[in-house]
Amino acid sequence: MSAPLLGKLLAEGILRCPRCGGVPALGGSAATCGHCGARFRFANGALDLYGRYREGEPAPPPDAPLVEAIADALHFPKDPAVRRAVAEAVADSRAVAEDPNHAAEIRMIAERLGVPASPAPAAPPVAAAVAEANADVRARLEVTHLEPALGMGMKLLRSFRLVNTGTTAISSSGARPVNLSYHWFDPEGHAVVWEGLRSPLPVDLAPGHALTVIANLATPEGREGAWQLRLALVVEGERWIDIEEGALPVRLARAAPPPPPVEWTGLAFDYGTDHGVALDWYAKAYAARGLCGGRLLEVGGGIHPQGGVLAGQGSELLAVDVSFPMSQLGALYFAHVAADWGARMAFAACDAHRLPVRHGSFDGALVFSALHHFARPSLMLAELARAVKPGGLVGVLCEPCVPDPGAAEYLRDLREGVNEQIWTVEEYWEIFRRAGLAPVRARADGGSLKVLLERA
Ligand SMILES: [Zn+2]
Repeated sequence: MSAPLLGKLLAEGILRCPRCGGVPALGGSAATCGHCGARFRFANGALDLYGRYREGEPAPPPDAPLVEAIADALHFPKDPAVRRAVAEAVADSRAVAEDPNHAAEIRMIAERLGVPASPAPAAPPVAAAVAEANADVRARLEVTHLEPALGMGMKLLRSFRLVNTGTTAISSSGARPVNLSYHWFDPEGHAVVWEGLRSPLPVDLAPGHALTVIANLATPEGREGAWQLRLALVVEGERWIDIEEGALPVRLARAAPPPPPVEWTGLAFDYGTDHGVALDWYAKAYAARGLCGGRLLEVGGGIHPQGGVLAGQGSELLAVDVSFPMSQLGALYFAHVAADWGARMAFAACDAHRLPVRHGSFDGALVFSALHHFARPSLMLAELARAVKPGGLVGVLCEPCVPDPGAAEYLRDLREGVNEQIWTVEEYWEIFRRAGLAPVRARADGGSLKVLLERA
């Protein structure tokens, strides 16, 4: 299958080798890096620049009814050649990525399409370790977006991403539950608050795995200045365990910093309408900057990148996703179902924490409802900032911004192994700041945050 825009992006040196930054050349069923010789699969019009999979026994091929259900859900023609291509793409969902969160995203192809999965997806590997949970409780703070200054006497929800560095699962259920909590140390180094609020882990955390916990936090009253928040795990009724790298400097003042300038519209839309509203809003700003007909990058767009509408209006779109099967289905969809736009769209799989693209190559970049799945969102956005030209418009759209640690959908996604996270607007602003992006405009419709940004 031909992929005109993909070929063009490779020929222009815009798509790069994720290992060495060299320029891959497309030939047959692979693209080969001209510098380091790495080979990347090319199948069904999509390129796999992710490629970090575990070796092992291949799982049995997906059963025919599942393939047919997926092909029908996407309105693919009954043409046997097209159905074989769809089967080949779906079969690639058996590849197991080295990163467990990526593995879940790739495995859950039926769920991402709203097609009943058969057989059921493999259970996350946490189950086996739960029997002896909390025997060896150790954790390290991997990421937080806690802002550097807070007001005193406030109750907040803030997220902390913990890695289990022990040898057994950490669990907030059972006879000896472990919760996330904290201590506050004042500017003189005295522990002014020892018993911090408790927050349960929403799911059990297997050894070596990471989980973002939405935590209850209360800031103390007292002297203004440089305080320290020390995160800790508490085995209830037994002991406190410091979290490695969990001592965070926080400047406390009586007056809280002003909230981020988000327009809370009071509107709320269903999922599909919300995406349409966001795309419209972005497209107007993109047009106002004279960027129409330019080149766009969309991260996490799966089969139906929202930027496809802008490709339909004359822009070119590179859609990247961590899932190679989704990239293939996207390329097939825009070749066989919505072919009018296909010539201006390219599909590639990659890890967007390290975007395999040349600096300053895009007029705009889009992320729809995907940023909150990234373990290191500021790293990914810094990559987007690098990928766009000066004056380019970055849209972070339809991201959840009202944390509810008890929400059923949130808990279900976590149980499936998806890296579900919900940040507050304050945390999003901290993420943007660290990424080198400056918000231009922001709105929230219900809990759906939409922000236009440019390079700071
Ligand atoms: Zn290379």
